[in-house]
Amino acid sequence: MNRTDMWRRVDAHPKAWDMIVVGGGATGVGVAIDAASRGYDVLLLEQSDFGKGTSSRSTKLAHGGVRYLEQGNIGLVMEALKERGLLLQNAPHIVHDLAFVVPNYDWWEAPFYGLGLKLYQLLAGKYGFGVSRILSREETLEHLPTLKTEGLRGGAVYYDGQFDDARLLIHMVATAFEHGAALLNYLEVTGLTKDAQGFVDGVSARDVETGNELRATAKVVVNATGAFSDLLRLKAEPSATPMIVPSQGIHLVLVSSFLQGDSAIMVPHTSDGRVLFAIPWHGHTLVGTTDTPVAEATLEPIAMDEEVDFILATAGQYLAKAPTRDDVLSVFAGIRPLVRVSGAASGVTNTAALSRDHVIHIDRSGLVTICGGKWTTYRHMAEDCVDQAATLAQLPEKPCVTRQLHIHGFPDSAKEHAPKEFGSLAVYGSDAYEIRRLIDSDARLGEPLHAALPYIKAEVVWAARHEMARTVEDTLARRTRALFLNARAAIAMAPAVADLMASEMGWDEVTRAKHLAAFREVASNFALRP
Ligand SMILES: Cc1cc2nc3c(=O)[nH]c(=O)nc-3n(C[C@H](O)[C@H](O)[C@H](O)COP(=O)(O)OP(=O)(O)OC[C@H]3O[C@@H](n4cnc5c(N)ncnc54)[C@H](O)[C@@H]3O)c2cc1C
Repeated sequence: MNRTDMWRRVDAHPKAWDMIVVGGGATGVGVAIDAASRGYDVLLLEQSDFGKGTSSRSTKLAHGGVRYLEQGNIGLVMEALKERGLLLQNAPHIVHDLAFVVPNYDWWEAPFYGLGLKLYQLLAGKYGFGVSRILSREETLEHLPTLKTEGLRGGAVYYDGQFDDARLLIHMVATAFEHGAALLNYLEVTGLTKDAQGFVDGVSARDVETGNELRATAKVVVNATGAFSDLLRLKAEPSATPMIVPSQGIHLVLVSSFLQGDSAIMVPHTSDGRVLFAIPWHGHTLVGTTDTPVAEATLEPIAMDEEVDFILATAGQYLAKAPTRDDVLSVFAGIRPLVRVSGAASGVTNTAALSRDHVIHIDRSGLVTICGGKWTTYRHMAEDCVDQAATLAQLPEKPCVTRQLHIHGFPDSAKEHAPKEFGSLAVYGSDAYEIRRLIDSDARLGEPLHAALPYIKAEVVWAARHEMARTVEDTLARRTRALFLNARAAIAMAPAVADLMASEMGWDEVTRAKHLAAFREVASNFALRP
């Protein structure tokens, strides 16, 4: 998979596409997989890199959402639990189960959370991940040795899924490509075209790399631009009523010693009425998140000081050693594309209470917008969206096949079913063999890029050759997760990554320097100032 292959598909497609999808996050790429695997021809355009928006900035949980159970949204929880199971079934190289412990400091918490989490387990039915149960104080500390012991009575354990969001996304892009879709990053949709009756029949887009314009027509256009959905809707209909309430959530990444062991902490009630997770992730501790209404969505949102302080203070209530700003290796922010309750006033102040259900909205112009939902439910959202878009466009009826569809990299032989031997390359699934082959052909590619992180040079070459990484940032933020794990280490690795990419992509010194400077600017938002 590379950009030349993608352009070849676009150039060889002079007629109207069945579907154009705008937006290369979980939602858009999910729609592209669903439509392409049904047999429709699909073009997907992403203005930046795949996953540059919210889809690389999540808590990385494939979960039903214990919080939504508390809110009484049983339908959403059951749907998400089923999707969690399908995700593990179809992408076992990227998704795995994880024990979550709710520590109890009050007498009523054990029966209350014990019962609720048992219900959560039962709602998963045959897609269950593990048996939840009440833990003694000793068992709780076995799971979470770094927990604050003062006043600790015990806990309750339950199981959910964890994954690497940007890695899953790039494997999903490859899956859509393997089913015939053309997907281009760095293609910004700048306008929508309409037929004589006023129905949207295509897009005009700008190639961000060359400045060239692309015009493409389609029987239906799907707007999967997440928090930016209203901007595209306004291009089709200037009087469209806004649907999106953007809400920011941030995460802090700390060294792994804050959470020894393999279990995560789930705090069911923070002082602002949310849940907080502390999760082991790629050998680090990920803590989050917040829910702060923001005026508008931006592609590179920045964590606010109050959000950082809130997470540090809340984590400090539960951890034996309270983390400080000096302990933060990386901080990242993402924008939730929450959907406005119809009729709600524009100034929403409590976004935590807004539904996480997805919405498919068809404007009078025929533009189909899919927004809301969760990473976990992307497959179901896509099925729903393609069903409706195909009906609207009068495409021949074709059934959805994604329930059983393996995601690229699925380990397909008995040998490949033991990816543990690949260590940190295991998330590549069957591609790990190809990366190993690169190292076999040039041993220098096996060299690490930084002592603090597991990434090696071969991953950079692989990203540039086969995963459509176009910039230093693409490689350090979303093909590897270096920037998300340790911003300063990522900044230190950047020149070596730029060198490797320059020789793969044929960059001259000016282009190399430009990519490096652009990366440093973005990376400065991930490094917390003391
Ligand atoms: C802090 C936080 C934590 C979360 N944690 C979880 C979790 O643990 N589990 C879970 O299931 N869900 C979680 N979610 C929700 C989940 O991350 C989102 O629902 C999901 O990523 C949304 O994906 P999307 O594709 O709709 O949006 P995005 O990923 O934002 O994708 C939209 C894309 O559209 C592109 N775009 C915009 N305009 C244009 C244009 N004009 N032309 C071309 N492209 C354009 C953007 O560049 C962007 O890449 C979390 C969300 C947040 C914010």
